[in-house]
Amino acid sequence: MSLLKIESIKKRYGSFEALKGISLDLNTGEVISLLGVNGAGKTTLSSIIATLHPPTSGDILFKGTSIFNDIPSYRYQIGYCPQKPNLNPLLTMRDNLWFAGKYYGMSDDAVEQRMKELNERLGIDRFLAAYAHELSGGWKQRYMIARTLMHSPKIVILDEPTVGLDPDIRQQLWYYIRHLRDQGICVLITTHYLDEAEKLSDRVVVLHQGVIKLIDTPQNLMQSFQKGKLEDVFLELTKEQKE
Ligand code: ATP
Repeated sequence: MSLLKIESIKKRYGSFEALKGISLDLNTGEVISLLGVNGAGKTTLSSIIATLHPPTSGDILFKGTSIFNDIPSYRYQIGYCPQKPNLNPLLTMRDNLWFAGKYYGMSDDAVEQRMKELNERLGIDRFLAAYAHELSGGWKQRYMIARTLMHSPKIVILDEPTVGLDPDIRQQLWYYIRHLRDQGICVLITTHYLDEAEKLSDRVVVLHQGVIKLIDTPQNLMQSFQKGKLEDVFLELTKEQKE
């Protein structure tokens, strides 16, 4: 079922057009990966969906209604994890998570319960008393993801979520993303890891210079390009685009 309808989104930075009219449906219970070489427009698109900045033109409909009519209500439905960790440096990890829960109006009990659930999946107990500067990059990323999920959003946007994670936590995160999908959540990921996109995604979207080049399942793409790996499809596509 379509959850979010992205209609002809354009984004200009001065005279440069970073997105040139993107239309895309995001569905309940799917993992969708945004792929593209550096500068293709992935972060611009995902941050517009997260309402960090407005598009120059176009619309986004959540369950049929423009998100721009009531951005605060829409924000309750989404969780956004940016590329760069931005945990509050003055708060412990526990307080960062509490702050996120309370910001979204959760009761104390609901926050505690949610932290327990997230701990079972992401193993976040260990450094709850620590501050961001005391944590490795991978651990910061775990808490970033936990914070994104505190209020149980319907749409989860993860911008390069597994950069810097060790293989073990990367695998755990993949399991968790599948679990979110199985609960009907839409997970939008931007990634440069093609193995990740291949294993995780129900559909992949290939962006190039602000335009959608392809949308399909990894299996269909591999079949139509006669390749055994999504990475090889991507390399062929980007080679074609450079020629
Ligand atoms: P990467 O894989 O490197 O993260 P991306 O696909 O996420 O790249 P974007 O960060 O969305 O790409 O950038 C798309 C284009 O828009 C790039 O050419 C970039 O230089 C340009 N751009 C992004 N943000 C701005 C900005 N604030 N001002 C001007 N140009 C920008």
